[in-house]
Amino acid sequence: MSASSSTVAPQTSSSVTEAAEAAVEAIAGAAAQDVAFSLALTQDQKDIRDWVHGFAADVVRPAAHEWDEKEQTPWPIIQEAAKIGLYGFEGLAQFFADPTGLTLPIVNEELFWGDAGIGMSIMGTALAVAAIFGQGSGEQIGEWIPRCFGSPDEVKVAAFCASEPNAGSDVSGLRTRARFDEAAGEWVINGQKAWATNGGIADVHVVIATVDPELGARGHAAFVVPMSEAQGISQGTKVSKHGLRASHTADVFLDDCRVPAGNVLGGKDKLDERLARVREGKKGNSQAAMQTFESSRPTVGAQALGIARAAYEYSLEYAKEREQFGRKIIENQAVAFTLARMKIEIDAARLLVWRASWMGRNQVRFENAEGSMSKLKSGEVAVWVTERAIQILGGNGYTREFPVERWHRDAKIYDIFEGTAEIQQLVIARAISGMHIN
Ligand SMILES: Cc1cc2nc3c(=O)[nH]c(=O)nc-3n(C[C@H](O)[C@H](O)[C@H](O)COP(=O)(O)OP(=O)(O)OC[C@H]3O[C@@H](n4cnc5c(N)ncnc54)[C@H](O)[C@@H]3O)c2cc1C
Repeated sequence: MSASSSTVAPQTSSSVTEAAEAAVEAIAGAAAQDVAFSLALTQDQKDIRDWVHGFAADVVRPAAHEWDEKEQTPWPIIQEAAKIGLYGFEGLAQFFADPTGLTLPIVNEELFWGDAGIGMSIMGTALAVAAIFGQGSGEQIGEWIPRCFGSPDEVKVAAFCASEPNAGSDVSGLRTRARFDEAAGEWVINGQKAWATNGGIADVHVVIATVDPELGARGHAAFVVPMSEAQGISQGTKVSKHGLRASHTADVFLDDCRVPAGNVLGGKDKLDERLARVREGKKGNSQAAMQTFESSRPTVGAQALGIARAAYEYSLEYAKEREQFGRKIIENQAVAFTLARMKIEIDAARLLVWRASWMGRNQVRFENAEGSMSKLKSGEVAVWVTERAIQILGGNGYTREFPVERWHRDAKIYDIFEGTAEIQQLVIARAISGMHIN
């Protein structure tokens, strides 16, 4: 661990609690922040950036090839991240609580610069945590979020299960059904979830199911299903993937899976009230949901940026070393201009990511789907930059002896998950036109 690690990690328990409470308040929308957008990082942000970078360089990057080849969850590294405070509720809360909104994307970019597969093993839990934060009652947040992470001695991960074999881009068509058994006072959930990051190896699974299929997406609710207690939840096939291979992805089966009434996020009374309003024809909160998605997308974009930056830096150094025709390959404009374009694209994408992150944190209304713009651009940049990096390394770039082919494989997922590139364009097109584009 680098010396800078110690500048952030050891926190007093009171500052940790304050940071966590600040984040809960912020997510609940209690206080709109009013911080001017600035590219000048504060000393705190620089310290956190350097601290995460130290972990990424010293611990994550050296282990990346091994875990990619093994295609297994890197539990020892998650545990190391937990021990220094990078993996856990307090750390995430501290990053989120930053009023500029920039700390969370900075942390993600640095970590994923180290490795995306390991990065996703560390950050994948945040998907479930965000759902509990966003939709859970105070009591549910207190009960379930610590369980998502476990403790540094016994780390846990969490899974967010929305996608299904027949409901990917169009999750409104999901078929997993939750029925309330009045006699037992329990929810009974049946269905199959696909592609769940940490699915089956997590303790806490947040499962999206329909309570009333006739209401489409407005009939959906989120349920906490703890693997260690609930009957009827099991892991299906673990997916063997093109990239992000240190991150576990699997189907999850729910077969007459029973959870207590209180495991629906937000509580059953609120759900009943909401469904009653929708049935009366009153407007649901899809606009609010859209704003929430727009806020979380830049964080995913920042992960893609981390991969792109890794590939750019590596290929720049390689081009300055490698000689052909009696000169460094970077002395050819074809190579140097490519590197210049790589740098410009990465910086441009980062500006979109930081703008959208600042907007989300400061509750500035997304007018033109700025969150989707940032995720779309970053994903495309990561794919393009990593492909160019392979080209700059020539034959070496195409082998597993060098990391750029792994970065290219990892980058591609950012065109696909958390909304495909086409779906992001759909969201942007609808936002700018005010029309229903298909
Ligand atoms: C590694 C990995 C991890 C994942 N983790 C999770 C997770 O933790 N939790 C979770 O719930 N899900 C997760 N997913 C699922 C992911 O979100 C979906 O794969 C994604 O939303 C796309 O859905 P799909 O694969 O069914 O593709 P489809 O929806 O079938 O799309 C196929 C193609 O059709 C295009 N398309 C579809 N509709 C339109 C349209 N209206 N206009 C234009 N083009 C369209 C798409 O853009 C895409 O190119 C993960 C997926 C992967 C691969």
